[in-house]
Amino acid sequence: MTFDYDLFVIGGGSGGVRAARIAAGEHGAKVGLAEESRMGGTCVIRGCVPKKLMIFASQAGLMSDEMRGYGWCDAQAGSFDWPIFREKLHAELSRLEVIYRAGLTRAGVEIHDQRAVLDGHHQVRLADGTTRTARHILIATGGRPAPIGIPGEELAMISDDLFLMDRLPGRILLVGGGFIACEFATILAGLGVDTVQAYRGDAVLRGFDREARDLATLQLSAVGVDLRLGVTPAALERDGDGIRVRFEDGTDERFDAVLMATGRDPYTRGLGLETTEVRTGRNGAIEVDEWSQTCVPSIFAVGDVTDRVNLTPVAIREGHAFADTVFGARPRTVDHTLVASAVYLRPHELATIGLTEEEAKARGPVDVFATTFRPMRSMFAGSDAKVMMKLLVDPADDRVLGCHIFGPEAGEMIQMAAVAITMGATKAQFDATVAVHPTAAEELVTMRAPTRRHEGVEG
Ligand code: NDP
Repeated sequence: MTFDYDLFVIGGGSGGVRAARIAAGEHGAKVGLAEESRMGGTCVIRGCVPKKLMIFASQAGLMSDEMRGYGWCDAQAGSFDWPIFREKLHAELSRLEVIYRAGLTRAGVEIHDQRAVLDGHHQVRLADGTTRTARHILIATGGRPAPIGIPGEELAMISDDLFLMDRLPGRILLVGGGFIACEFATILAGLGVDTVQAYRGDAVLRGFDREARDLATLQLSAVGVDLRLGVTPAALERDGDGIRVRFEDGTDERFDAVLMATGRDPYTRGLGLETTEVRTGRNGAIEVDEWSQTCVPSIFAVGDVTDRVNLTPVAIREGHAFADTVFGARPRTVDHTLVASAVYLRPHELATIGLTEEEAKARGPVDVFATTFRPMRSMFAGSDAKVMMKLLVDPADDRVLGCHIFGPEAGEMIQMAAVAITMGATKAQFDATVAVHPTAAEELVTMRAPTRRHEGVEG
């Protein structure tokens, strides 16, 4: 049987674009790709990239506070002009979109700027009513915000909307204590918005190392976020040009805007899965094996739609490995066990790789090397902000099982620590590394004695 394409990719985000570009450009496959929105997907258009630029925009206040501590007596952040920033932001996103599109075109990928859905095991149906056949289909449709099912929820924004606002709200409620809620609470408070964050738990960023979570929780309040723990909204209703939120404890309050950041689900609804035998699991995630292959041999899936490790660099790896395996005769899988990540808070970021102290303790005996200190730079300026660094070491073979950093530029630091830890570094090898002085990062190679030892579940 002849097909229109060797590969048809549904979704032009990080995973789909990489897979299409490698399959066509490096391995000579005939590739089509459909994207219903803008090329680049969540990360480039409405996620990591604009978010990081907003983080940079939001730190003027913290920087001017610090500079006053260094003798710039009248340093002030001044006033922030959202429309000016937004225009520049969108010009940058358009520039990146053009680059993504050009990369695909150069590789020979045929782009379809419309929605595509599955129509059997070797065919997709495009929004214009036409169909295309393909030997292989890759689903790379990403994720979508997950509603929590309370009345009036549709009045709230999702993170996509934040980048499109006409003006900054005077007062906003962010719901959730995960990546998005914590990062945007930091950003909006930094931009001068009266920011309330409601989280149902007792410390934000569940799943991260507990000590780091506690520091992140304290920092959010320290930068001016009105963080309310153990609080959950029960209903939203319109109140003039604002929103009235009723909480589960019976209280109610008015906000100019509400942002729901309560997690994301794989974007599989309406994808035509019922025309195939592809299996889905929790929250509609596409079930795949280590080759990103579904139970239908011609259909693969990568990225957030598979709900493995939902991070851009992981989706890119999965897309690349898929293309090399299927079209390049270079079979390879992606190891999801050791993936570094960072939460871009300010002034200190939270960055991590490997096991948390709680996970390491549950696994068996572990030595904890941890330090908490006030870094030179902010301490001089009069700040009490604390940095935390932690290495978790297996006493049996001295291997570093996890590393957690709460500090300035922790995301940059963890990337380098991740190289060593991915290579299986031991604590002795960290110790043998000469420090770079004076830096905060040098603490990672100068922690000599364990702070504590856990004997494991049996201990
Ligand atoms: P997260 O999964 O990080 O956090 C979801 C939050 O919503 C949690 O605090 C959760 O609470 C809370 N929540 C879930 N259900 C309810 C409910 N019914 N009522 C009240 N609260 C609820 O999701 P995000 O939306 O913040 O981010 C989505 C994904 O985007 C992340 O998982 C990550 O993969 C990615 N991302 C990565 C970034 C980065 O790498 N820096 C930045 C931004 C996003 P609880 O913890 O108690 O379950």
